Order: sequence, then structure tokens, then C-alpha cells
Amino acid sequence: MATDSIKEGSLGAPTRHPLNQNEPIFWDEDDLNKELERVYDICHGCRRCVSLCNAFPTLFDLVDESKTMEVDGVEIADYSKVVDQCYLCDLCYLTKCPYVPPHEWNVDFPHLMLRAKAIKFKKGDTRLRDNLITSTDLVGKVATAPLINAAVNAANRNSTLRGLLDKTLEIHKEARLPEYARPTLRKQVANSATSQSNTPDNPKVLLFTTCYCNYNEPDVGTSVIKVLRHNGVEVSLMAREHCCGMPRLELGDFKSVTRLMEKNIPELYQKAQDGYTIIAAVPSCVLMFKQELPLMFPDDERVQTVARAFNDPFEYLFKLHKAGKLNTQFKNELGSISYHVACHQRVQNIGPKTRQILELIPGTTVNSIERCSGHDGTYGVKKETLKYANKIVQPIVRQIKQKEPDHFGSDCPIAGRHIESNLDNGKHHEHPMELLSKAYGL
Ligand code: SF4
Ligand code: SF4
Repeated sequence: MATDSIKEGSLGAPTRHPLNQNEPIFWDEDDLNKELERVYDICHGCRRCVSLCNAFPTLFDLVDESKTMEVDGVEIADYSKVVDQCYLCDLCYLTKCPYVPPHEWNVDFPHLMLRAKAIKFKKGDTRLRDNLITSTDLVGKVATAPLINAAVNAANRNSTLRGLLDKTLEIHKEARLPEYARPTLRKQVANSATSQSNTPDNPKVLLFTTCYCNYNEPDVGTSVIKVLRHNGVEVSLMAREHCCGMPRLELGDFKSVTRLMEKNIPELYQKAQDGYTIIAAVPSCVLMFKQELPLMFPDDERVQTVARAFNDPFEYLFKLHKAGKLNTQFKNELGSISYHVACHQRVQNIGPKTRQILELIPGTTVNSIERCSGHDGTYGVKKETLKYANKIVQPIVRQIKQKEPDHFGSDCPIAGRHIESNLDNGKHHEHPMELLSKAYGL
């Protein structure tokens, strides 16, 4: 293409290319390094993303401290220092970068980081700690087992044992780890005697419970179920659910992502075919099914069908509202809410649906905070990155302290917990679905 056609920023809507992990070139390390050099050079000349996370400051420091003060002065061995700081929040792609496709510079920074992580993982350069903390389903199953459960939760609170974990596995001793719940959300639902009187006209939702809500914060999931049933929606769970694969994707472990996709997709596909809307109360899990799996498996019609059936929970409630089917008779006013908009919900491009629904509640004001919480799933617990996660969350913490709201929370309960830990004022984060349930008086 002629250079005079190069535009400053793209005027077209951003598009995303498939990952092409089945092409041999995807795994070629020399080709990766050439692409990293090309994109790092564009970023060095742009620097718009400097405040988003620690990946860009790491890159710009490497450039500024190099002999040439250009990307060609940075050692190739140091390229991975940037990659290690990226937790794939996607914000640079969606909210800042003017050079994303269809722009001919074709910058997809998060997916380039993902490719670098995948090559690193394939080479076996991944720590035992990272393998362990991204095995959310396995850890959750063990940690919620009888006898083990109480011991795990006690160990998480024990400073001597946490010191040991810090030394051996490099899980930061000050990271507030989530409690493991017994019974899990799925067991609570299975044990629940409450049945719903369904009619063929009831809208149908399949709740993908997610590892986090299932094992760590079941109250978020039970609130989703209560709110939906209160609105006449038939809610069911999968017969067998497995991790969505997002934590393994962030590690670059494409084999596990494929294995988990193969386990989840057949049942989800069947439900989608049967007319169910599929939702999950963790935006990263929704994004996995809506965006990442479709880009990894563009030719798999089952994956594409599931992607179309997947909704953010508030996107779904908003659709009900538009159809005149949302119950807007609220029993309780909520006062002021500081609400953190999770990055992985923002990048779904669905608009501020959570805020719009919460604002239907009388006597309720919502202050939205659109900043990354910096937690990711694992970045906020690792010894070497907790300090950055705690720094990234500060603008959110400052706003909440300033507003002194009656409630605070995030669409992402993991981000909510990270905010809570940094606020450290004894108040608990509440997922917007828990707030809605409270407003209904459920
Ligand atoms: S995806 Fe998020 S963490 Fe990664 S480089 Fe972009 S803004 Fe930073
Ligand atoms: S990702 Fe895009 S917007 Fe961000 S620094 Fe690089 S070129 Fe600039």
C-alpha cells in the first residue's frame, strides 16, 4: 500500500484477526521477535498507553535506558520483560490504540503478548507456581473438599504458612487470597429445594457458574439466580462445568484451553441450540466464550454459536428491560454506589448496561469508575507483581475514599476483592447482582 494512504489512526471499527495458532509461523520465535520489534517501535513512537499498566512503562524504560534510545538498542532477551507485565486486560487495544486493524499498521498488542506467552509456555519456561494458580478448577475442587476446606482457609490466614508459601511458591504473603466456600455454588443449587414453575414462555438462561463464583463467592451466583427467577426467567446450570480456560490462556497454555473448550462446548452448544441465553457473572469468562475462543477456533460452528448465545448478565437484563419484561418494582433504595467497570466487560463493547440497570433503582446514584483494577486473575497474588497491582488500583481506591459511598463493587468479583483489600476499611465489595438482589428485597 502506498505510504500516502497511511492515516493517523483508523477510521474503521476495530476488527480482530483470528489467532492462527495452527499456522507453523505462529510458533516461530524469530518471526515473533521481528513482530515484537516492529510493534514495540510503533508503541515507542506513540506512548499513549503509558498509564494503563506496567507493560508499557517497562518497554519505554528499556528503550530509554538503551544505548541508542530506540527499540534497536533493546536486547531481544529483554522483550519478555514487557510480556511478563501484560495480563491481557485488552484495554490498550480497545480504548487507546488508533493502529488496530483495519489500520494497516495492524497493532494488536494484547494478542501479540498472548502469542509470546504461548511460545514461552511451549518451550517449558513456565513456573510451577503459575501452573498451579491458573488451575482454578483443580485447586477449587481440592480446597472445597471436606476436611481440607477448613485447613486451606486457616492456612491462608496464617502468617507463618503464608511466609512459607511466599518463599517456596512466590505467592506474595500480603496478597489477600480468597476464601474457599463450602458448599460450593453448584452444590448449593443442587441441594436447593426451591423449584421454579416454568412455562414454555419463560425465557431460559443457563448460568455458567465460573470457578470463582462456584468455589470462592457463591453468593454472587445465588444473587444472579434469585434476580433472574424474580423476573420469571428459568435458570439452569450445566450438568458438568469446567473452567472457561481464561487463566490457562493468560499463561499461554493453548493445549489446556483447547482441552477445556472441548469439554464445555458440546453442552453449551446444545443449550444454545435449545434457545438458552448463556451468562456468567465474571466478565473474563464471558469474554473467553464471546471473543477469545471464537478467535482461536474461527471455523468451529459450535464455538461461534455459543459465542452468539453468551451474554453479560446486565446485557441480558437490559434486553429484558427493553422488551418490557424487567420487574422495576424495587423494595429498597440503595443510596450511593461506587461501581468499578471491569476491563473485560468494557471490551465486550456492550455499553454501560450495569449502570443503566442499577440506575433504575429509586434513591440510588451510581458513580462509575473506568480504570483497570490491576488484579487480573493472578497478577495481584504473585510475589513479583503484587506491588504493581496495588499501584494500578490506587486511582479506583482514591475515588471510592473520596465519595464514601454506601456500597462499592465491580462486575468482576475478583477485581472487587482486590479493591476491597486496598481500601482496607472493613467494608466488603458487593457485586452489582448482589446489589440488585438487595434492592428487590430478595
Ligand atoms: S492488554 Fe492490558 S495489561 Fe496488556 S499491555 Fe494492554 S493495557 Fe497492558
Ligand atoms: S498499543 Fe497502540 S496506543 Fe498503545 S502505545 Fe502502542 S501504538 Fe500507542
